[in-house]
Amino acid sequence: MSDLVRQPIPVPDEQSAAFWSAAADHVLALARCTHCGTRVHPAGVVCAQCLHPEPSFEFTPVDGRGTVRSWVVIRDSFLPGFRDEVPFVLVDVELDVQSDLRMIGRLLDGPDAALSQGDRVVTVFEDIAPGVAVPGFALEART
Ligand SMILES: [Zn+2]
Repeated sequence: MSDLVRQPIPVPDEQSAAFWSAAADHVLALARCTHCGTRVHPAGVVCAQCLHPEPSFEFTPVDGRGTVRSWVVIRDSFLPGFRDEVPFVLVDVELDVQSDLRMIGRLLDGPDAALSQGDRVVTVFEDIAPGVAVPGFALEART
C-alpha cells in the first residue's frame, strides 16, 4: 500500500458515482427523487417516500450544515488504513436541508472535541487521494 493512501478509497457504483464526483470538488450533492422531491442518502434504487415504479434521481448540491444527533469515538481500527487515525469521532448528523435526512461522517475537530446533542456542524471534505475526497463535519464556531 502506498504511503499516500492511508484509508480505503471509495469505489463509486451506479447509484453513488455523482455523489463521489461532486465530493471530489468539495461539493455535497445528494440524490433527490425527481417524482416527489424527497432527498435520500445514501441513494438507493427506489424512493422510500413515494415508491414510484420508475425510480429517477438527480444529484444536486445542498448546504452541508446540520445538527449532531449522536456520535461515537472510534478507539480501535479493524481496517489497517485507519490504524494511524484512531481515536477519531464519527457523528450522526441531521442535515438542515430536509427533516430526518441524516449523514454519518468523521468529525474533523479531533477526538477531544466537547460534543453535545444539537451542536451545529458544517460539512467539510478530506482529500484522501488524488481526485478523491470524503465528506466529514466540523463544529460551527460557538457563540
Ligand atoms: Zn419519491
